[in-house]
Amino acid sequence: MQGDLTPRAGQWIAALTGAGLVVVSNRVARGGPGEPMTGGLAASLLSIVEHSGAIWVGCSGSQGDGRHGNASVQTLGTGALVTLDLPAGHYDRYYEGFSNSTLWPAFHSLPNLMQDSQGDYQSYCEINALMAQALHQFRDRNAFWVHDYHFLVLGAELRKLGIDRPIGFFLHTPWPPLALMKHVPHHGELIESMLAYDLIGFQTEGDRQNFLASVGSDLGLGTEDGGVISHYGLTRCQVFPIGIDPDKFAQHAANSSSHSDVAHVTHGLSGEKLAIGVDRLDHTKGIPERIEAFAHHWSKNPRTISLLQIANPSRTGIQTYRDLQDSVGQLVADVNRKYGAGDWTPIRYVTKSFGQDVLSGLYRTAQVGVVTPLRDGMNLVAKEYVAAQNPNDPGVLILSKFAGAADELDTALLVDPTKVEEMVCAISTAIAMPREERVVRWRAMMTKIRQGTVHRWAADFVSQLEKSRLALVPGKAVSHDGEVPSGSKRREADEP
Ligand code: UDP
Repeated sequence: MQGDLTPRAGQWIAALTGAGLVVVSNRVARGGPGEPMTGGLAASLLSIVEHSGAIWVGCSGSQGDGRHGNASVQTLGTGALVTLDLPAGHYDRYYEGFSNSTLWPAFHSLPNLMQDSQGDYQSYCEINALMAQALHQFRDRNAFWVHDYHFLVLGAELRKLGIDRPIGFFLHTPWPPLALMKHVPHHGELIESMLAYDLIGFQTEGDRQNFLASVGSDLGLGTEDGGVISHYGLTRCQVFPIGIDPDKFAQHAANSSSHSDVAHVTHGLSGEKLAIGVDRLDHTKGIPERIEAFAHHWSKNPRTISLLQIANPSRTGIQTYRDLQDSVGQLVADVNRKYGAGDWTPIRYVTKSFGQDVLSGLYRTAQVGVVTPLRDGMNLVAKEYVAAQNPNDPGVLILSKFAGAADELDTALLVDPTKVEEMVCAISTAIAMPREERVVRWRAMMTKIRQGTVHRWAADFVSQLEKSRLALVPGKAVSHDGEVPSGSKRREADEP
């Protein structure tokens, strides 16, 4: 696709799929004005669904007592949102258990946080099967696009029900190195089921390579040009780095300086610079490591910068997350006591969520953005911070080299978040960086962000998924650049 996709990607997807796309994710967004986003996935999919006429199916967050639970439907722009109450008997083991206490820590290379019980895996498979049954009513739609680690085996469940439409899968998290994947119970079964997808998308080339290594090791299947042929047929594995809508953040940032939340922050500053961190309270986000680094900085350079840390409580049903919340709160209190003064608070710690309009204003107010996860699939906050800057006087992004965003935003100050000295050095460099250097670095990042918007991401994925509608001829495959080899034919008669 050429040109600026911002206003048109939704319509373009609609044209491609005949408004027939079904999007599936665990969490959904409802799209009220100024409503905070509960994570990068929901933020990304909302505008796609609103403009493409897609049906977005996800979990309501409420639990039903029956096997299938209730479904509720509401309109979302030109699309629709269908949310399901999933059965209480399985939901916690599926969501808090296998998804977030086994797969999430494993995929983020934090094996010490992994918990597992045999029952969790069974419930995970059960919920995937129930979701497939709920999706069966949409079997005549043109294509399915499944999102994230909650639904690794959903494609295989849909195939069992006879659905033969193209089914794509996008992983928002990293895919871990082989040695870590081996810690995941049932890893061979999970990977084998994933080959039911026609197209699997990853955030980075490293994730794609790790996945293909797992396929080779667990299933003994070779790959050619990133494609894997199994008894399901061809699965193409490609990289689609997720983006944002940069114009939206730039406009919000330019317009929101008078918002009371933004004015409150600016008013509280007494001449020092401001750094901002915006994260869910998650072990992967490196929040304690970041606070330690700032504490080291303040021990030698007091009052040169303060930190606004927005830390949204997340997955509070899980004990390790509640423990993290307590320990970060305690750490902030200790650091503020040690380095603060009557008229100065080093860390302003906010657990409230903001709409992205306010967030944009806060990003722009801060001279330094600190995005230092231990591991992250992409990290949209990094891109949002850059997009919200004043082009003539932009701030500096300190970015973990272990975030997917570092592949693109390589003119940020890249750091290893576990190395305190490296972080401290980056904080000093950011504070002192001259305007000319900030502008050069910022322009390079903005070029990449503009080239890879969320709209382009969605349009690229869906156009590749549409190519899965081409049938395989024995001994031939759809070539991996998506072109049709001569002799190929349609699997489906109906066109988009
Ligand atoms: N976000 C928000 N309000 C807040 C904090 C965060 O709307 O108070 C949004 C933020 O703009 C971003 C998303 O939540 O789009 C977080 O995505 P990211 O990829 O950085 O991290 P994730 O939470 O998905 O791990």
